Amino acid sequence: MVFQNPDATLNPAWTAGGILSRAVGRLGGLSGEARRQRVDELARRVRVEEQHLEAKPTELSGGQKQRVAIARAFAGKPALVVCDEPASALDVSVQASILNLLAELQVTEGVSYIFISHDLAVVRYLSDRIAVMYLAKLMELGGAEEIFTPPHHPYTEALMSAIPTLDFDHPSERIPLGGPVPSLSAPPSGCRFHTRCHRFLGDLCVNETPPWREVAPGHNYLCHIEPAELRELQLAQLRDRGAR
Ligand code: SF4
Repeated sequence: MVFQNPDATLNPAWTAGGILSRAVGRLGGLSGEARRQRVDELARRVRVEEQHLEAKPTELSGGQKQRVAIARAFAGKPALVVCDEPASALDVSVQASILNLLAELQVTEGVSYIFISHDLAVVRYLSDRIAVMYLAKLMELGGAEEIFTPPHHPYTEALMSAIPTLDFDHPSERIPLGGPVPSLSAPPSGCRFHTRCHRFLGDLCVNETPPWREVAPGHNYLCHIEPAELRELQLAQLRDRGAR
């Protein structure tokens, strides 16, 4: 697993090399020279320089610490790595290098990621399939490009409207999510998203759990609005914005 904040997950009393060596011993079952070689190999793969292996986490930059955390996650040659917002605690200037490193390792190490993020632009860059969740419930599931093409779930639509754009002729029109975030221990009745949904249909959304709709094989969302109608509503909104 790669966590959001390396400061909270790297032992400050150990050197980076010690942290990796322990992980290689525990997760990879290696010892002696083989263990030392695997630590060097991991450091090379994530581009942590040799002198930094002697440093403690407090002596490393945020990007270097996250590289050590990533190397540790690969210590046992995993088939699946869970990445929980791995770049969001870093400076914007180093976020791209960490995401590029993860993309590179995905190919060279042959791993799958479960990549958790609130940043849809980042998710689109790295993912083959995307699952959109709200209040611990799956709202939409589909291929990365399908999710970004109407129709999408109204919550996905709102998230997309929050992606910044450099197209000054057609600035994104943010869909505000009104009201407070409901409690997870007492989620709203019917559709969980109904207290904040901009496409709210009234009693139906309050009282009835929405069906799981199929847009195409492998692309589904949870809503009372049918795919054809939702597509029209969303395309009309995009046309409207383009005309302004
Ligand atoms: S079921 Fe109703 S409240 Fe839920 S996403 Fe669809 S329109 Fe919005």
